[in-house]
Amino acid sequence: MKDSEQAKEMKTSTTAGADIIEAAKDAATSLKMLFIDGLKDIYWAERALVKALPKMAANASAPNLKSSIKDHIAVTENQVTRLEQIFKLLNEKAEGKKCEALAGLLKESDNMLEETVYGPVRDAAIIAGSQKIEHYEIATYGTLLTFAKVLGENDAAKLLQQTLAEEAEADKILTDVANGAVNMDASQV
Ligand code: FE
Ligand code: ZN
Ligand code: FE
Ligand code: FE
Repeated sequence: MKDSEQAKEMKTSTTAGADIIEAAKDAATSLKMLFIDGLKDIYWAERALVKALPKMAANASAPNLKSSIKDHIAVTENQVTRLEQIFKLLNEKAEGKKCEALAGLLKESDNMLEETVYGPVRDAAIIAGSQKIEHYEIATYGTLLTFAKVLGENDAAKLLQQTLAEEAEADKILTDVANGAVNMDASQV
């Protein structure tokens, strides 16, 4: 199709060529199911983070960055436990389902280690990657909290609220570490 024809078609129908996707056999038919799917996704993600964070801490050179990542390992382990409590509240088996988004973010963070020299520049890269992860978690827990509330799952909502606050705090700490010295140091090497 010529560009001009394509532009004309887009004008008439912005959804032309895009189909309604056929649902898988186990597709969610209710918000409750979508909620549980989301919990499985972030359960996988948090456990992957428990494994990945030590590598990030080991590669951080600024002491305050290293210690804040180490602190977040313990926080993350507790978030895993909290998710297990939520599964229990919902009478669901605690099981993870691969989170493609976090797997991608972790891969990108890994690549950034190789693409930076150890020191303030790598520290800046670690903060950049970590903040993408925290923002992903904030978005995820924000959605799950909203779902829990509308579903009347108030005990689950309380637990999700606690984790959401921790992720927001982690994000803020990373910003403070970056602004504190890391970015300035990185700009001077
Ligand atoms: Fe987390
Ligand atoms: Zn995900
Ligand atoms: Fe996106
Ligand atoms: Fe986090």
